[in-house]
Amino acid sequence: MRKLIFFVFLAGLYGADPQPCATPETCWTLLEEGNGNWWDTKRHGLTHPNQTPERRTAVAQHQSPFAVVLTCSDSRVPPEVVFDRGVGDLFVIRVAGNLLDDFVIGSIQYAVTKYTKLIVVLGHQRCGAIEAAVAGERPPNPLGLLVKALKPAVKASRKWPGDRVENAVDANIHLVANRLEVRFKADGVLVKRKRYSLDSGQVTDPQPWKP
Ligand SMILES: [Zn+2]
Repeated sequence: MRKLIFFVFLAGLYGADPQPCATPETCWTLLEEGNGNWWDTKRHGLTHPNQTPERRTAVAQHQSPFAVVLTCSDSRVPPEVVFDRGVGDLFVIRVAGNLLDDFVIGSIQYAVTKYTKLIVVLGHQRCGAIEAAVAGERPPNPLGLLVKALKPAVKASRKWPGDRVENAVDANIHLVANRLEVRFKADGVLVKRKRYSLDSGQVTDPQPWKP
């Protein structure tokens, strides 16, 4: 009987898919802390949570990621590394220029319906896709379509003072986040606008949108 109760308890535990945070804001705090471990290693140090074979087994039947991260395909911005997290923690969508299309939105829709209300839009310093858009490059399709889709960010930020590429990176973060906020308003999501520094490893806020 005791054994049975134990198994029922375990099933309940796994069925509930417990997360390490209760609200979108506290989930963001976890990511912020993890990023501190990554960039400020002298003060904090990496903890590599949930990167064991035991964790792999624990989430093999059920996942319960506590954040959606939409970021670039750039090899230097792997979310689990820059947020110091592990297996089963993040629902990650990566596409050059962290852009939206129906498949990306569909993936996010799945995650916010099932798992979490936190979406992080993570652009990054010296994004190659945005550099191409700023330079006016016209590569053959379908890459050309991708570069073209970044043009609104380039256009919107063309009069902002400072570096054109970094300004367009920030504008793109805002434009993508705005669309997600509108699209998932009814689901009560929290969309965080963030940018990643290739130089320091730090995740910060983009500059504010300038009209
Ligand atoms: Zn990029």
